[in-house]
Amino acid sequence: MKFTKERKTIARKVNGQTQDILVFNLDSEIPGPHIYIQSSVHGAELQGNAVIYKIMSALKSLPFKGSFTIVPHANPLGGCLKMGDYTFGRIDPISGENYNRTYFDTIDKSERGDDSIRIGLSPFCDEHGEKPWSEIKKFFQEEIQNSINKKWEDVKIHGMHFPNKLCLTLQEMAARADYVFDLHTAPVATHYVYTPEYCKESALQLNFPNYIVIPNEFAGALDEATFCPWWSLKDELSKRGRDDIQIDFESYTIELCGEEVIELERAQVEASKILNFLHLKGVIDQGMEVKSPKQVYCKLENFKTYHAPMGGLVDYHKTPGEIVKKGEKLATILSFMGLERLEEIEKCEHPILAQEDLLLINHFASAAAPEGADLFQYFTNFDEI
Ligand SMILES: [Zn+2]
Repeated sequence: MKFTKERKTIARKVNGQTQDILVFNLDSEIPGPHIYIQSSVHGAELQGNAVIYKIMSALKSLPFKGSFTIVPHANPLGGCLKMGDYTFGRIDPISGENYNRTYFDTIDKSERGDDSIRIGLSPFCDEHGEKPWSEIKKFFQEEIQNSINKKWEDVKIHGMHFPNKLCLTLQEMAARADYVFDLHTAPVATHYVYTPEYCKESALQLNFPNYIVIPNEFAGALDEATFCPWWSLKDELSKRGRDDIQIDFESYTIELCGEEVIELERAQVEASKILNFLHLKGVIDQGMEVKSPKQVYCKLENFKTYHAPMGGLVDYHKTPGEIVKKGEKLATILSFMGLERLEEIEKCEHPILAQEDLLLINHFASAAAPEGADLFQYFTNFDEI
């Protein structure tokens, strides 16, 4: 097995020092799938680094086929910018952009199909649509790389915001893979996985409890940036009567509970799930022991956010992962604003009731919540497997 470490410079700071990411390549030198794993694109979301550590520790002795590209601490700015104790790692402080919304859409969606940087699916399928899938796949991978190369050429002329440049660097590595894992966390949360609709059966092999099934709509995230081109290609080929195509590219965003913590023991369990998934895909020779939890699916449109109706201090009564019935108390908001008479002191408590049956997925990290904060996110209309 060949192990290499590469340092990629994303940008230079005012004083000329560089902002770098470390890229680890593990190559079995046996033909097989290529796996891409990154963590902490949102700087406060730390657990993925611990999972990467456990995966790399396992690969020291586990025989595998193919190769891995692994990027811990994938955001050298967001991961290091502190506000007091807290990591200010979700939003770029200069451009105001969310780091996981600035990946590059490689598919031409212009009405006239004349985007010179992105891939025109119709001309691509005119040229390659009749070929065997293995050839189409090879040419399409090249086409994605060409589109990214043209974007880099454009950057030489116009430059680019830090988040876009960071994301293009990461996306270029991920686009060469067969399986992509983008490791995130939510504020205070349970485990959940974003899966494209076409992978939802395969995603269950990850053995995490909760899945959000996402459509073929690019909204700037890495999973979408990498799977949407393949899904769009499949749709275009289907229109031309090629119903024999099964996309063999999978991309997942995995949310590993809450931010600002690492737990190495839990990381071992999470890493085992990913390694066992790769065993089932023929990458790792040996299976891992993993527990199969009760699994729940929810469409993206049924993954809801409840915003704080008022500012105040929040006592959260439910734990992410719990099922909550309509009318049950989710939280109490404490606010002194409406208090006029001491006899009415109990009016400082404002109960927040569940408006429908739900599965609680995450809640705001702080007890101090301004009006409009993403107080809860939850599944409605979910299906248990
Ligand atoms: Zn995130």
